[in-house]
Amino acid sequence: MTDAAPYFGEMLTVAREAAKMTQTDLARATGYDQSVVSRMESGDIAITESAAVEFSKALKVPVSFFRQTDRLYGLGASFLFHRKRQTIPNPDLKKIQAEVNIIQMQLSRLLRGVPLESEYHVPTFEVGVDGSPAEIARLVRAEWQLPAGPIRNLVKVVESAGIFVIYHRFHIPKVDGASLWITGLSPFVVLNERMPGDRTRWTLAHELGHMVMHRSVSKSIEDEADEFASEFLMPERDITLDLRDLTLPKAANLKLTWRSSMQALIYRAKDVRAITPEKYKSLYIQLSKHGFRKAEPNELPREETSNISNLIRYHTTENDMSVDDLCRMTHSDKDWFEATYLPAAGPRLRIAK
Ligand SMILES: [Zn+2]
Repeated sequence: MTDAAPYFGEMLTVAREAAKMTQTDLARATGYDQSVVSRMESGDIAITESAAVEFSKALKVPVSFFRQTDRLYGLGASFLFHRKRQTIPNPDLKKIQAEVNIIQMQLSRLLRGVPLESEYHVPTFEVGVDGSPAEIARLVRAEWQLPAGPIRNLVKVVESAGIFVIYHRFHIPKVDGASLWITGLSPFVVLNERMPGDRTRWTLAHELGHMVMHRSVSKSIEDEADEFASEFLMPERDITLDLRDLTLPKAANLKLTWRSSMQALIYRAKDVRAITPEKYKSLYIQLSKHGFRKAEPNELPREETSNISNLIRYHTTENDMSVDDLCRMTHSDKDWFEATYLPAAGPRLRIAK
């Protein structure tokens, strides 16, 4: 492969960050000097064929990964952590950003030449101009012709607007999800596969809020995305009556109807003034006392995705491709590919080739 295209330092960096390795770790794993790794990443010296092979083994990506010329993106505010972002160590942040970029590149290859059709599209609104985040949530519900009341299957609704939802093993328990929507490309949301169903829904609604409302980063966007998620999942007009005289057992029941956590319902009850602040406080204390802030009863099942499996199926049936072919096309390691794109599938959706 002497006449092959060059390798790109940027791609080495993204693969290394996704593997959560430092340049020193990578140098140690491959026998190169850290300064050499550093200069290869910055493009000061070329990545040799033999170095690319070593890096590929250490980082579990095919050698061709380093030949990709895609531009990479920062995620701005589209992360959601269930704890404060400040508590996330920098290597973890970089890992998430790198993995989302890798998914972006892979998805764009999977989508190349595929005739996509979706029932709805993702509208965009501007907070302040088009209304408050709650008002915008109502506009989106109207545009997507959602009936009043709870959304039974949020993944299905979001997917009907052409958004790809991907469950991914982040290996970082603190991260709930992230999303990316590059102009001209399909928007997607990556969700930590290790979350209970109610938190998955909240995260997805929150990320949807970012997609609909935010094209730049500011201080208020996290609160805005939460306000959007809250109204989108639990419209004030439809839920207020349900939340009157809220008790813990009632919240556990409502969780099954509204498919939102007890904690979110209790908070919402205060929000829409269905309960007094004192009542809210007392419910919150009870929630803690029962250990429900860590694990709630009535766990909701995860909503399964279908856009991504349909896309894979298109390639395996229409284009007669095997999983190995798809890995080559997306410059993906097979384990990664299977875990990310054929997951929920499990034995049920193994591609029969
Ligand atoms: Zn956010």
